[in-house]
Amino acid sequence: MKITVIGAGNVGACAAQMLAVKELVNEVWLLDVSEGVAKGKALDLYETMPILGTDTRIYGTSDYAETANSDIIVMTAGLARKPGMTRDDLVVKNASIVSDCISQAVKYSPNAYLIIVSNPLDVMTYVALKVSGLPRHKVIGMAGILDTARYNSFISMETGYSMKDIQSQLLGGHGDTMVPLPRFTTVGGIPVTDLISKERLDAIVTRAKNGGIEIVNYLQTGSAYYAPGTAAVEMCEAIIKDQKRILPCTVMLDGEYGFTDVCLGVPVVLGKGGVEKIIELNLNADEKALLDDSQGHVKKTIEDAKVMLNMN
Ligand code: NAD
Repeated sequence: MKITVIGAGNVGACAAQMLAVKELVNEVWLLDVSEGVAKGKALDLYETMPILGTDTRIYGTSDYAETANSDIIVMTAGLARKPGMTRDDLVVKNASIVSDCISQAVKYSPNAYLIIVSNPLDVMTYVALKVSGLPRHKVIGMAGILDTARYNSFISMETGYSMKDIQSQLLGGHGDTMVPLPRFTTVGGIPVTDLISKERLDAIVTRAKNGGIEIVNYLQTGSAYYAPGTAAVEMCEAIIKDQKRILPCTVMLDGEYGFTDVCLGVPVVLGKGGVEKIIELNLNADEKALLDDSQGHVKKTIEDAKVMLNMN
């Protein structure tokens, strides 16, 4: 199997490294507009494999022809946030980068699954879906796995209990309007609401919503990449190993949750068929209101991007 990671920046290089560490595929191609960066990081990673004792071959390129017949394409190219920026501030530049990269990549890999990481995530997933012409079960945005990982980390910090035992779900857009769901969160099967006070849980939800900017403010020069790169690889693994994982992913909705023509984070079953099923949770009125609000925000940004890209 062969995976191409477009964008050899922080997230892309981390994803390539995790793919190799887990030895999920034989070949990983790192593609970047800067050929030197792609080739340099790929060679450095290739030279890591003898130390790890794994056999993944990692190559760098700026030529899409070399990525031909990839099984999965992980799209990470684009600008990252700096302090003071929202993800939506990236839409103008990243919409044209995603549109250009995806149309070139699918020309050479028409059967690939696309895993989108570039921000603003929900809008870029929509752009990739439209530009690629692929069916919706093959174009999948990564955000919910990262957002739940942040939320789960904070629950573990609060309780001191193992991260392995924390299970949660999350809906909505990747941004301030995301909808973490305490009602669907358990620690070792115990509802989190039995373990953490409402006040503390509200604070954890707020911190998870602001998890991206917390790291941007520390780094000053870019945004998070270890957890995002690792999250994208978890999606690759679910597809490659046909794991049937239930994971929060961003997909085009066609009536689910009452929404159409919008890409939004929802729980899906991820396996060798890509998104094999979208799971519709039975939401209460408060949860549905938060999801409606999130959908409205994402839809508006998608409409702006469509006008900009002259897309119908
Ligand atoms: P980065 O600046 O480190 O890397 C971006 C890379 O993209 C650079 O190497 C750049 O040369 C390359 N690039 C730019 N235009 C290109 C083009 N037309 N073709 C090929 N390569 C091109 O940024 P990063 O930290 O790796 O973040 C990448 C993207 O991922 C950003 O948009 C960021 O906001 C997003 N991100 C999303 C999530 C998420 O949860 N979905 C999390 C973290 C980061």
